Amino acid sequence: MRILIVDDDAAFRIILKAFLQWAGYKDLIMATSPEEALYWLNEIDQNATEAHADLILMDITMPGLNGIETTRLIRQNSNFDDIPIIMVTASDSEETLAEAFEAGAVDYIKKPLNKIELRARVRSVLKLKQETDQRKEREKELSEANRLLHEANQKLERLSFQDGLTSIPNRRYFDRFLRTEWVRAMRLKKQIVLIMMDIDFFKLFNDSYGHLAGDECLKMVANVLNENLNHPSDLVARYGGEEFVALLRDTDKFTAFEISETMRTGVAGLNITQGFSHCSGVVTISGGFAVMIPPENSSPELLIKAADNALYMAKHQGRNRICMYEDES
Ligand code: GH3
Ligand code: MG
Ligand code: MG
Repeated sequence: MRILIVDDDAAFRIILKAFLQWAGYKDLIMATSPEEALYWLNEIDQNATEAHADLILMDITMPGLNGIETTRLIRQNSNFDDIPIIMVTASDSEETLAEAFEAGAVDYIKKPLNKIELRARVRSVLKLKQETDQRKEREKELSEANRLLHEANQKLERLSFQDGLTSIPNRRYFDRFLRTEWVRAMRLKKQIVLIMMDIDFFKLFNDSYGHLAGDECLKMVANVLNENLNHPSDLVARYGGEEFVALLRDTDKFTAFEISETMRTGVAGLNITQGFSHCSGVVTISGGFAVMIPPENSSPELLIKAADNALYMAKHQGRNRICMYEDES
């Protein structure tokens, strides 16, 4: 442990040093004035590789700044907060001692020095300092561990909402998102749009080109769909195997149709050869969408069923097309 001695009296510094060495403390820094002590403290603070003082032994009576004023200055600097200061004084005055404690000293030792007393006081203050340091270190480690745990949890949560293959949001996330948006649209009486899309003849694609090619195709399709969203609040998700959904806020049927068409032509524009498709020479999607202002006390299954119906129609009418759900009632 490192002790900083601040005393203007050279003879006294020698005695103090000798006694401390006798008590087993070898790492001693000598300052002949408060200014020198403050300079050393600040220097050491900027040079983080060197150890700080664990204890300061401070003479009270010195020319210029006295020990009490110096203690006050040290205490004002939050970097030196945890360095205990023991006053070394020839004075018996209660007033001086009270002032020293108020300035932030933790103890005092009377001059002339008694080496047994000096050792006992230094030892107990250093022991307390060591325990405090260890506690702070543990707290730091604990808070770092908590931070890492929090980060890992956040990452895990993000991953649990992400589709592993395409990296777009998964069904789980979509279900949540849809519920929230449904309630919001209901409250605000706003239109909400769901587009359901499904790759045409994808089983044939897999059978012809292999599952890995199928996976690549899914990734590219997901990408195109995602790129065609206009608003940050809109969402494309992977709904199931080769089925995707898009949820659009505050959108009317014309815009919904436009966006669905852009998505459909975007997929065809990828030009992924699909020699076995019965509707095109490249990979295509069919889409069905529904536009609704959510009726009071309804559930979003209403919207899913409607969009699903429209998708069924698109498939039925020959695929590679977009159909809109029309309410017959
Ligand atoms: P339709 O035009 O009527 O939609 O015909 P389809 O062949 O696309 O439909 P079907 O439901 O019969 O087949 C879907 C295929 O999608 C079957 C399955 O092998 C494939 N599929 C589902 N998930 C994945 C996946 O993660 N990777 C790959 N490569 N294929 C998948
Ligand atoms: Mg399909
Ligand atoms: Mg399907």
